[in-house]
Amino acid sequence: MNQVIELIKTDVKKEKPAANALGFGKHFTDYMFVMDYNQEDGWHHPRITPYAPLVLDPSVMVFHYGQAIFEGLKAYRTKDGRVLLFRPEKNVARLNLSCQRMSIPQIDEEIVLDAIKQLVEIEKDWIPNEEGTSLYIRPFIIATEPSLGVHPSREYKLMVILSPVGSYYSDQLKPVRIYVEDEYVRAVPGGVGFVKTSGNYAASLKAQEKAELLGYDQVLWLDGVERKYIEEVGSMNIFFKINGEVVTPKLNGSILGGITRDSVIELLKHWNIPVKEAKISIDEINQAFQKGELEEVFGTGTAAVISPVGELKWKDTTMNISKGNNGNTLANRIYEEITSIQLGKAEDPFNWTIEIK
Ligand SMILES: *Cc1c(COP(=O)(O)O)cnc(C)c1O
Repeated sequence: MNQVIELIKTDVKKEKPAANALGFGKHFTDYMFVMDYNQEDGWHHPRITPYAPLVLDPSVMVFHYGQAIFEGLKAYRTKDGRVLLFRPEKNVARLNLSCQRMSIPQIDEEIVLDAIKQLVEIEKDWIPNEEGTSLYIRPFIIATEPSLGVHPSREYKLMVILSPVGSYYSDQLKPVRIYVEDEYVRAVPGGVGFVKTSGNYAASLKAQEKAELLGYDQVLWLDGVERKYIEEVGSMNIFFKINGEVVTPKLNGSILGGITRDSVIELLKHWNIPVKEAKISIDEINQAFQKGELEEVFGTGTAAVISPVGELKWKDTTMNISKGNNGNTLANRIYEEITSIQLGKAEDPFNWTIEIK
């Protein structure tokens, strides 16, 4: 199936925001990608069209039963003006994994990857130049059959929108304070925690709100059954460095398999730093902390790449991690390496980046 992507042009161009006013996901570019699905034609009519509001029947299924999935990746501009994507084939593969779990028809990964490349190419002037900035790419699929019957939708829209985003850090990595959630749960075995479906985020807001009220930045989720084993942070996977060894929770069907997580594991292996995926209890982490063996904790995700954790609050225990470290951490080293690869500053021995031309 070789579908040509139609381009519907516009002369109306928005003013681009100043680099220091970017924030995250507040500004959108002039074009978007759209493709439709129905039972007769399958996925059809891939097109790049002017960015504009949608007109949807109030009965479309996404509004009622939440059949919606998304992805997140970034385009980076190198010093010499090239445009790079970081492992985008992983994002389209994960989109299909999400499709499968959410009863959405499979997409042609090649067409969607091609669409992302063409859209970014057309909008490359929107990629900001300043250190740490990038163009965030948000592919998503929504159920658009107008029907209140509960069944998988028979119609969908796949869209890709682009947003220039600011630097996550102002100069150096800023440690976050994390609340270990032991009341609410995010996901359970057999559920949808391992895919990027919108409802996972809707379900997480209450705990995030609670953590913020208590003065924390984000939530660390425990397993949904025993509330004992570590899963992940809001939109990041989590890593612990204990006695020189790095450990991260094993993908168990309720944790999202982050692409940054995978990249960190690969990089550590490449550096011959011991790393393992395992079932880890919060008790073990606390014990390591009490023994002085918990050297580092950090989150991984597309938005921040690496986010060091300065404090973990679990019930009455406060774990202050790597107090007074002078920036000479493994988290820093990983951050430097991955962002250097993303920006074309370092060699890319893993072939993670794809240049758009
Ligand atoms: C997207 C996401 C992550 C991070 O995945 P990356 O591919 O590294 O960006 C982690 N956890 C959740 C719940 C997510 O939705």
